[in-house]
Amino acid sequence: MDTLRVKDRKVTILGSQRSAMGAARLLRHFGAQVLVSELDTDQFNAEKRQILADIGAEFEFGYHSPDVMESDFVVVSPGIPENVDIMKKIRSKGIPVYSEIEITSWFIDAPIIAVTGSNGKTTTVSLIHHMLKTAGYDSYLGGNVGVAASEVLLNSLLESPEKPIFVLEVSSFQLDNIESFKPTVAVILNLTPDHLDRYPTLEAYYESKIGLFKYLDQNCTAVINRDDPELSRRDIVAEHKRYFAVDSLSGADAMLAEGTLGIMDESGWRPVLPAKALPIPGRHNLSNALAAIAATMDFIQEPEILAQGLMTFAAVPHRIEYVGKINNIRCYNDSKATNIASTEVAIDSFPQPLWLILGGKDKGGDFTALTPLLESNVREILLVGDAADIIETQIGRTLPTCKLETIEHAIEYCLEHGEADDVLLLSPACASFDQFDNYEARGDYFRSLIQAREGWSL
Ligand code: ADP
Repeated sequence: MDTLRVKDRKVTILGSQRSAMGAARLLRHFGAQVLVSELDTDQFNAEKRQILADIGAEFEFGYHSPDVMESDFVVVSPGIPENVDIMKKIRSKGIPVYSEIEITSWFIDAPIIAVTGSNGKTTTVSLIHHMLKTAGYDSYLGGNVGVAASEVLLNSLLESPEKPIFVLEVSSFQLDNIESFKPTVAVILNLTPDHLDRYPTLEAYYESKIGLFKYLDQNCTAVINRDDPELSRRDIVAEHKRYFAVDSLSGADAMLAEGTLGIMDESGWRPVLPAKALPIPGRHNLSNALAAIAATMDFIQEPEILAQGLMTFAAVPHRIEYVGKINNIRCYNDSKATNIASTEVAIDSFPQPLWLILGGKDKGGDFTALTPLLESNVREILLVGDAADIIETQIGRTLPTCKLETIEHAIEYCLEHGEADDVLLLSPACASFDQFDNYEARGDYFRSLIQAREGWSL
């Protein structure tokens, strides 16, 4: 634990959202002099003010004072890009800049399993966390998911756990400002285009993700998706590498073989779980499960215990979450699918006849990409929200569509026309902001409508 690095140091935290508030608490806990400097006055509220005052941190909202430039180092929130004025000034003065995950790692002595990638991070960290807990570890889950890593660490300090492990979901923005972050197990799930508003090129975004491996040493393991074309193209430097694969059998350490998820090591093939027994649907979730096996196999040696964790995992809400059945029509909430790529993997998860609720606030995507996936098994596409017209124009000629305005109407329609063993899937491929505050509110609403219907059961 590297407390001397912060004791009595002057630290500015730029921003005041979740991870910034966690960083403030953590740094104060270890004796730093903390200034929280937030330009956005909308972020200011009495609760934050109270928290910062209670921990003895200084704060300023609506401006950055000259004190910022006197800092020994700066902690930058993931939402703040490099090209804003204050960042340019800090860089030109040569003040070190770190992300919250970097400074948190200075104080973690326990093993860390960190997961990054473009898609599947939350599902995979939640699965790893659940598997570790099932095996008797004191697993702490945080980072981009739920609670900030710094808060999770502070919570663990209050509990003195016997077998602590930290499972952290790490975004590319958190990786942009690391200097020593060295997870015991570093997992990369996949690389697909994203965040082009923040990175100058796609390559820069990919490089940032690969940054997870930068400081690994001989005690660390890199866990890599062998199926991912972008990852295969890259030469990832790490002393210990472990691969997982759903598709390619060559040289993977955790893989799918003859319908079974398992491990291939010096002692040969060790089956863990029939793919059919995994409670979360879809090929992408087989990949996430194999990533979780590869990440935890050093900590959980017995295949039966790995299997027990996998089998008893409940889907993360809003990610192809099973919410119940009515008249034997099974209903799934995939409200987190706010872009077309996510909806593609959801559709791909269901061979059954499908009622698909699409729509919301359009983000300018090309919905025709969904057509080939839907041709064989879609019953009807139920269009809701602002994007309904755009989607209908794009795919209405080749696929059966019906405009229904709201999710409630879409459910009604499906239940009226659907048959036993059909699937109703909310996977909107659009943002939620036309009718909801966020994707969680949209998914909660869908779930509550289903579970309020007569005849509903799990
Ligand atoms: P993230 O935290 O990276 O956003 P989530 O676990 O929240 O990922 O999943 C978000 C959506 O991404 C899911 O609803 C699913 O449609 C899709 N997804 C999940 N895992 C994968 C994967 N391994 N490959 C591709 N898409 C995935």
